[in-house]
Amino acid sequence: MLQISNLSKTYPNGVQALKDVTLNISNGMFGLLGPNGAGKSTLMRTIATLQDADSGSITFNGIDILTQKQELRKTLGYLPQEFGVYPKVSAEEMLHYIARLKGITNDNERKELVKALLEQVNLYNHRTKYLAGYSGGMKQRFGIAQALIGNPALIIVDEPTAGLDPAERLRFNNLLSEIGENIVVILSTHIVDDVNELCNDMAIIAGGKVVQRGNPEALLNSFENRIWSKRVAKDEVASYQKDYKLVLSKLSGGKMVVHVYNETDPGNGFAPEKATLEDIYFANIV
Ligand code: ADP
Repeated sequence: MLQISNLSKTYPNGVQALKDVTLNISNGMFGLLGPNGAGKSTLMRTIATLQDADSGSITFNGIDILTQKQELRKTLGYLPQEFGVYPKVSAEEMLHYIARLKGITNDNERKELVKALLEQVNLYNHRTKYLAGYSGGMKQRFGIAQALIGNPALIIVDEPTAGLDPAERLRFNNLLSEIGENIVVILSTHIVDDVNELCNDMAIIAGGKVVQRGNPEALLNSFENRIWSKRVAKDEVASYQKDYKLVLSKLSGGKMVVHVYNETDPGNGFAPEKATLEDIYFANIV
C-alpha cells in the first residue's frame, strides 16, 4: 500500500505544483490522469525519491519514502517521462549494466534475467541494436524491461504513450497490462483512453490538486443521468458555454456535439448521454 499524505510542493519560481495531495493506492494498476502542468511528474518524481516535497509524507509498505530513499529504491521500478540520451549501447548491454547496478552480480542469473526480459518486452530480436536507433515504442518497451529488473513492488510509469503511434501504444499498453496485479503500478498520463483500458483505480489531478478519486466504474456511476448532449452549429458553441456547464464539444459528421453537466434534464433539445471517462475528465479540469 502506498500512502501519500498532505503532500505539497512549491518550486523556487513560485509555481505551486502540488497542493495538499492525499492518496492511498493499493495493488493493481492506478491511473493518475491530468492535463499538462497538473503536477503529475512532480508527484511521480517525489514518489521515486528523485526530488523532495516541502511538506507531507509518503510511505510504501512501511518504508518512509522521504527519509528512507535507498530502501525504497530497492523495490522501485521507474520509467521516467524523459529517459534522457539513448547511448550507443545495445539493449542487451544496457540491461546487463543496470542489473549489475541493482546488485545482480551472478553472471548466469543475470544472463537469464536479461534474456527473459528481452523476450517479455518483445525486443529479443533487436537485442544487439543500439538503443539510440530504437523507435519511440521500442524505447518505451526497453524502459519497462529496465524498470522490471529486481522484482519491484512499486512501478511508476510517467506519460509512457505520449508520442507513440496507435500500434505502438497498443503494444505498450498490452505489455503494461501483463505486469502483475500483486504490485502497485502507477500510470501517469494525460490520455483518458490509457486509464480506460488499463486501470482499476484512478485519480484526476488538476492544478496540483486531486479533483476526483475512485474506481472508474464508480466514477461513471456517479455521473449517471448527469451528462446531456445536443447537436449544435459551430457558431452556437460559445453561447452554450455561457448558459450551461459545458463539459466538451466535439465534431461529429461535420457538426458540433456538445456535452453538458446538469443534475436534471436541461430541456432545450438535450438528450441523455451515457457518461464516459472523457466527460468526467473534462468536467473536472475545465
Ligand atoms: P505534469 O507532469 O502534470 O505535466 P509537472 O509536475 O511537470 O506537471 O509540472 C507542474 C507545474 O510545475 C507546471 O506548472 C510546471 O511548469 C511546474 N514545474 C515543473 N517542474 C518545475 C521546475 N523544476 N521548476 C519550476 N517549475 C516547475
